[in-house]
Amino acid sequence: MRESNYLAHSLVQRVGDFIQIRRDIHARPELAFEEHQTAGLVADKLNGWGYEVTTGLGGTGVVGTLRRGQQGKSIGLRADMDALPILELGSSPWKSQTAGVMHACGHDGHTAMLLAAAKLIAEDLEFDGAVHLIFQPAEEGAGGALKMMEDGLFDQFPCDAVFAMHNMPGVEAGRFEFRKGSAMASSDNVTITLNGRGGHGAFPHEAVDTVVAASSIVMALQTIVSRNVDPQKTAVVTVGAIHAGIANNVIPQTATLALSIRALDTEVRALLKERILALVKLQAESYGVQAAIDWREGYAVLANTPDETEFATQVATKLFGADRVEPNGPAYTASEDFAFMLQKVPGSYIFIGNGGPGTRGACHVHNPGYDFNDELIAPGAAFWLALVGDYLKK
Ligand SMILES: [Zn+2]
Ligand SMILES: [Zn+2]
Repeated sequence: MRESNYLAHSLVQRVGDFIQIRRDIHARPELAFEEHQTAGLVADKLNGWGYEVTTGLGGTGVVGTLRRGQQGKSIGLRADMDALPILELGSSPWKSQTAGVMHACGHDGHTAMLLAAAKLIAEDLEFDGAVHLIFQPAEEGAGGALKMMEDGLFDQFPCDAVFAMHNMPGVEAGRFEFRKGSAMASSDNVTITLNGRGGHGAFPHEAVDTVVAASSIVMALQTIVSRNVDPQKTAVVTVGAIHAGIANNVIPQTATLALSIRALDTEVRALLKERILALVKLQAESYGVQAAIDWREGYAVLANTPDETEFATQVATKLFGADRVEPNGPAYTASEDFAFMLQKVPGSYIFIGNGGPGTRGACHVHNPGYDFNDELIAPGAAFWLALVGDYLKK
């Protein structure tokens, strides 16, 4: 019984409008830094509920602030607003109306959940302090969180703690996962360009073959995780793309490799860089090709601070019961730019299950068949409300 009735019916009814808002945002997805309509909708709603609203932070970011009481502490809650360049499958009435752009990571849902919380906080909550609701652009790779911080996010809106929530397919709908310490990986993007000597496929001795060198480098890279990284630590070296040649009888002059490099701590991240640079250089030399390496640092390791994570875990347990809360959830090798906010302000990144195995909500994010589960809006908003209420207790 409790399974399907763990939230008061009245609250579920009150956030019902936000299901429509979520679907409206889903139907009009916008890519990184182009979230103009979404940001406009967020700003209008927040204005209507009495928030001080700041727009244009980090491009299309929006912050809504509500202050009550004397001075108190301040808390920041973050949602992301951007969509992905994916052609949506499926046939829901709220299917993307923009071909090739899709809310395939549930940021439409995160935005709707935080808006629902915004309304409940404004209408229901007595508190002492400041609530800053942070709606950020461009989480998917372009670093909207950093852009907002460079525009003075935490100078204009100082926060004693900051929290964010992401849906997680494959986990029972509405179940909360918490984790102290490293929870999401660093992510670096590396492009290796090999330059040899092109030639006729019949006369390999007159060429310097970049295909053979690239193949050897791909295989050698596999030894970094298996032989150099401590087996008890986490690391990923993925070669996601190889481009070389166009014909069976031509040895290509160049080959390029594109890598995704991930780690759950900064020491492993540094070790991966050191080993990849050395290995590529020496392997290339051994084949007589030149290697140019373009190393682009991406998102940092996301580390949840213990006290704030424990606090958030307690809030969820009190609200939903221990059977809906995982206090020691897994770490993931995906990455998240909320990591940069956590480098400046203590806080925690929380997962809420989007649906267990075998349900619609289990379809993974970044998949063209994915859809955010609207059942999460009520528990997500209720959690935000309780978190703010407890953190800024009068
Ligand atoms: Zn994503
Ligand atoms: Zn996401």
